[in-house]
Amino acid sequence: MKQPVFNFSPGPAVLPHAVLEQAKAELLDWHGSGMSVMEMSHRGREFMSIAAQAEADLRTLMQIPQNYKVLFLQGGAHSQFAMIPMNLARGKSQADYLDTGDWSLKAIEEGRRYLDLNVVASSAASHYTTIPPLATWQLNPAAAYLHYTSNETIRGVEFDWIPELGDLPLVVDMSSDILSRPIEVSRFGLIYAGAQKNIGPAGLTIVIVREDLLGQVMEGTPSMFNYQLYAETESMYNTPPTYAWYLAGLVFQWLLQQGGLEAMAQINQRKASKLYAAIDQSDFYHNPVDPDCRSWMNLPFTLANPKLEQRFLDEAAQVGLVTLKGHRLVGGMRASLYNAMPEEGVDALIAFMRDFEAKHG
Ligand code: PMP
Repeated sequence: MKQPVFNFSPGPAVLPHAVLEQAKAELLDWHGSGMSVMEMSHRGREFMSIAAQAEADLRTLMQIPQNYKVLFLQGGAHSQFAMIPMNLARGKSQADYLDTGDWSLKAIEEGRRYLDLNVVASSAASHYTTIPPLATWQLNPAAAYLHYTSNETIRGVEFDWIPELGDLPLVVDMSSDILSRPIEVSRFGLIYAGAQKNIGPAGLTIVIVREDLLGQVMEGTPSMFNYQLYAETESMYNTPPTYAWYLAGLVFQWLLQQGGLEAMAQINQRKASKLYAAIDQSDFYHNPVDPDCRSWMNLPFTLANPKLEQRFLDEAAQVGLVTLKGHRLVGGMRASLYNAMPEEGVDALIAFMRDFEAKHG
């Protein structure tokens, strides 16, 4: 029996219960094949059909145009921090990066190993509680692309808009908000996301890239880091993470059944709004993020009395509300409300927070 908890983990994170049930039912014998998906050759007919269906469903969900390749990779978002400069510099030596927090900084740190990076703007001075307005970005005309992070998982800062930068290819780390709302894929050169938040289990990384940006990889790039090789082989250049790919496919089907990304966006907005309202209505809890940039996915908050934090976590866990501890860089609490977090989980958290405040406030 799955324990009846609500898991607010930032990732790996909660998966839809129905998906886990289906995976369980199909674990030993997938569709009468007599095999588990884990046991299948990635080049066999069965797995090829699973892989193709997953890609088709993702294309439907995100309305991905035909001139974009969808790549199913490994190595997490961290590998993308290097693969992006190696593949997208296209003969240039410079790139633009926006700094909105800890994950932006990680991308910048790694990107600097390959290119001259220009940080177009930073919200470090505000302790990363806001997004610098587009009009203040100092763009470099020689940049090969601009990189930003659409949702900063640690401090809960999220874009609800897409920068308009003309022909400069936009590259976005959507690890923690992909599939949470509809986005216009054609506005981007490349979108990437580790799977372990809104897609499926860890081990799979998805890249959606405009075809014309491929094929000019930096000299010395390892084959495993060359997008072109995955694009030419249906992401089967080497053995892909087959089981994670299959589970991602089940999540895509589940999302389609929920009504797609429009429906998810409505639910996600409602879940986040009620938790922010509960935080803002009290002097006991606090969230420092500019209301225009507050994340629907990751909601950090602190207690007026930090000495009560451990007690909060312990008492929450006792009523089945788990993994609420904030990131070690910022402390406090963080509730991650990915697609698979049911609304009842958010309601239960809010009810617990009110009780806790009444007892200790
Ligand atoms: N970018 C963002 C926005 C993230 O939230 C994370 C993981 N928390 C990463 C990158 C790093 O992902 P990975 O561990 O898959 O490399």
